[in-house]
Amino acid sequence: MSSSRLPWSKRSLTAQAMGHVDPITKAVVPPIHVATTYIRDEDNAYSSGYVYGRPDNATIREAEGVLAMLEEAEAGALLFSSGMAAATAVFQALNPGDHIVASKVMYWALRNWLMTEAVRWGLAVDFVETDDLDAVAKAVVPGRTKLVWVETPSNPLWTITDIAAVAEIAHAAGARLAVDSTTASPVHTRPLNLGADIVMHAATKVLNGHSDVVAGALAGATADEFWARIASIRKMQGAILGPFEAYLLMRGMRTLHVRTAAQAKSALDLAQRLSAHSKVARVLYPGLPQHPGHDIAARQMEGGFGYMLSIQVTGGEAAAISTAAKVRLWKRATSLGGVESLVEHRASIEGPGTPCPPDLLRLSTGIEDVEDLYRDLDEALRAS
Ligand code: PLP
Repeated sequence: MSSSRLPWSKRSLTAQAMGHVDPITKAVVPPIHVATTYIRDEDNAYSSGYVYGRPDNATIREAEGVLAMLEEAEAGALLFSSGMAAATAVFQALNPGDHIVASKVMYWALRNWLMTEAVRWGLAVDFVETDDLDAVAKAVVPGRTKLVWVETPSNPLWTITDIAAVAEIAHAAGARLAVDSTTASPVHTRPLNLGADIVMHAATKVLNGHSDVVAGALAGATADEFWARIASIRKMQGAILGPFEAYLLMRGMRTLHVRTAAQAKSALDLAQRLSAHSKVARVLYPGLPQHPGHDIAARQMEGGFGYMLSIQVTGGEAAAISTAAKVRLWKRATSLGGVESLVEHRASIEGPGTPCPPDLLRLSTGIEDVEDLYRDLDEALRAS
């Protein structure tokens, strides 16, 4: 649904989970629907629209409604049991022999899956720097390329891809464009409005925001045959999110706008201050004017540049690992998007073949006092 057709702002609708009031109790918080099966009508139909717990569930639909509204997704949204389950469902909806062009810098586990499992399924994958439009245009094969997969800002270098320009290239070749918008969030970027066909979120991250749910989501521009195949894959493979997790995700999303605004503000502040730090060789953050993708980010991101940044430490890999070991307030852990700030040495996680430099620390900015966050990092950097 386009934002001009909404009765209230997205922020208001999200805070109230679309204003849902339980029709029986008048509760302002919807109940969690746990039933796995539903009564048939006397004429054998299912007039409620619910049949069985694997394909669908009312708690899931409520959270999907909020996400579809946020992404302005005409086809609606689908929740999955993880970000990986959501992403892989898109690739599994392709046919053997189909060609995919994907961002070289992307979430490492998905890159690994594409290089191993997807290839075993008969898909051909080419990885390119999707911030280089000529490289994308060269890689796309008209008639053969069926999907362009872009992550922006991309993990962990925060490369920015021009979604509208890549959508044009993909569509001209007869391919769809899917965007992993996990680190942008629907608050900062709406890929479907920029021409993408599908947007994906690891809802485990900032959508939920509290590091207590593993979840994934897709939102679609058009309810076409490809979108129906993705929904069928979720149903057949049992990849739907559980109702308790959907409830927690819904609760997390109610504060999405407040959290993302605070996180993006702190991330920019940290990026600016760390750029002048004697122990930091480079800061990677699209909000900085010196970032190569800054101009595109300023055009396609609204209300901030997100909560993720990376720093390259002057002393190299050993100093980076030592800095991560010395922080006290930042938590040394994987993942991102939660209210608590996390630091991680990515190269040691991603292993051989990673485009991530060894001196890089990935920072996920939470909602703590930014003065505390800076002081903790400053002390750890100086002591390393
Ligand atoms: N996409 C991005 C950008 C991610 O950061 C992650 C996880 O870190 C995923 C996808 C996968 O999500 P999940 O861990 O929920 O499967």
